[in-house]
Amino acid sequence: MGVGQKLGDLGVVTVRLEDAVNWARTNAMWPMLFGLACCAIEMMSTQASNYDMSRFGMELNRPSPRQSDLMIVAGRVARKMAPVLRQLYDQMPDPKWVVSMGDCASCSGVFNNYALVQGVDEIVPVDVYVAGCPPRPEQLIHGIITLHERVKQERYAYWFEKENA
Ligand code: SF4
Repeated sequence: MGVGQKLGDLGVVTVRLEDAVNWARTNAMWPMLFGLACCAIEMMSTQASNYDMSRFGMELNRPSPRQSDLMIVAGRVARKMAPVLRQLYDQMPDPKWVVSMGDCASCSGVFNNYALVQGVDEIVPVDVYVAGCPPRPEQLIHGIITLHERVKQERYAYWFEKENA
């Protein structure tokens, strides 16, 4: 019996380039962790066995911009930390996305004072905001799935505009 008989007739599958690229991008995002306060503990538990972000191809979580394409900012951003955050974002290769996790990262939460950035979108472009103080791991996962749905809708023309912006 040949291999063809064992496998059956697999036929031919056609797919648009955009869909194939977006599928690859959403199934192997590598997060660059940016844990700054209590929200970071929830972010860590999202990778633990109960929630297991590896299910989404996120095996590699590390605080390095090298080969990372998703920045997760968890916690309040001090003004002193802002230039570091921006520099690391700039060092990430394109295409890249940002999730703002928790009220503090998104709008400084209850901390309305001069020492904190009143929303990380002052520093980097944010794609998805996750609300809560702190958001639970399920909420972060929901934010990541929301981002995946958005990336799956991206079209070639949009990539071109983004590259040349
Ligand atoms: S949103 Fe709440 S849990 Fe998150 S960093 Fe701010 S105070 Fe801490």
